[in-house]
Amino acid sequence: MENCLFCRIINKEIPVQPVFENESVIVIRDINPQAPTHLLAIPKKHYAGIHDVPADDKEVFSSLFGAVGEVAKKFGLDLAGYRQVINSGESTGQTVHHIHVHILSGRDFTWPPG
Ligand code: 5GP
Ligand code: ZN
Repeated sequence: MENCLFCRIINKEIPVQPVFENESVIVIRDINPQAPTHLLAIPKKHYAGIHDVPADDKEVFSSLFGAVGEVAKKFGLDLAGYRQVINSGESTGQTVHHIHVHILSGRDFTWPPG
């Protein structure tokens, strides 16, 4: 989608070095990391939010979380522990309106989340 930062990254209009990429998902390092490891898993198809994915396109979720699992293993996060965050809406701090899963690791995390 035009003017979407993550679509521009996916289309290589903005150069990045993905830590993982397949036909459906790209995983990149967050530009402003909130933990020693802070990755963003982004489906290549543009949907603004989880609730915008239609019932007949649930493949988006399996490929997205499949990629999260692969990256977790690749970086040893499965052993270290990792938090996944999806912000949805202004009240949660969402700034980019293209679905993405934050993958955070390398420190302790509090619960409940802030
Ligand atoms: P949100 O606030 O929407 O949940 O997450 C958006 C994330 O994208 C933020 O953590 C922000 O640091 C990250 N971000 C914003 N612009 C860029 C960019 O140009 N490159 C990368 N790698 N991350 C970005
Ligand atoms: Zn997009």
